[in-house]
Amino acid sequence: MRLILVGPPGSGKGTQAALLRQHYAIVHLSTGDMLRCAVTRGTKLGKIVDSMMKSGSLVPDEHVIALVKERLQEASCDGGFLLDGFPRTLAQAKALQHFLDSRGVALDCVIKLDVPDIMVVERITGRRLDPETGKIYHVTFNPPPPHITHRVIQRKDDTAKAVTRRLEKYHAETAPVLPFYENLGLVQHIDGTKPLETVFQELCKILDGFTP
Ligand code: AMP
Repeated sequence: MRLILVGPPGSGKGTQAALLRQHYAIVHLSTGDMLRCAVTRGTKLGKIVDSMMKSGSLVPDEHVIALVKERLQEASCDGGFLLDGFPRTLAQAKALQHFLDSRGVALDCVIKLDVPDIMVVERITGRRLDPETGKIYHVTFNPPPPHITHRVIQRKDDTAKAVTRRLEKYHAETAPVLPFYENLGLVQHIDGTKPLETVFQELCKILDGFTP
């Protein structure tokens, strides 16, 4: 199964991707995670993208495309993959299509998680991360247990200012990716405002059609 999850920041792509990875034993590729890892490790790429990511800007296409192509060539992706946070621009979508065509493989499905901007802001600005376990909480909807409240942190790009910028980027740069995939007849929409269990069930209903 070769799959792309598209949606605004905070639409639940990361959460659903983690559930799908477990359920279908599929390789989950998150460009956000890959880039954050490069920043944490202080690699050359990490140093280039650190400030861009903190401000909510997009990382230039050439870096992200190179990162994804390198990863997709690994044997672990031969059986399929789930892309989360990529492609985020039309140039990335075209580069991915070109790469897959050259390897004689095709995408099965592009799933768009629909969530309105107002809900995105509410979800993201309240999001907190426990750096010890990697678990994500929300100050209102899923508060961290009292014994860990002292250590949870807010991602630098989850502030109100950065979220506004990320949403602007999403509408300007990422939304045009959808018509590209619609033309290929690949897009399915899911209402991402529903509870995460419901969204997961709807995803499985679609994806079960692609598993042997
Ligand atoms: P995410 O975890 O997917 O929300 O990504 C966090 C940040 O990483 C984004 O705000 C961008 O700065 C950067 N990023 C992740 N994926 C991409 C991509 N496909 N193209 C450009 N920048 C990206």
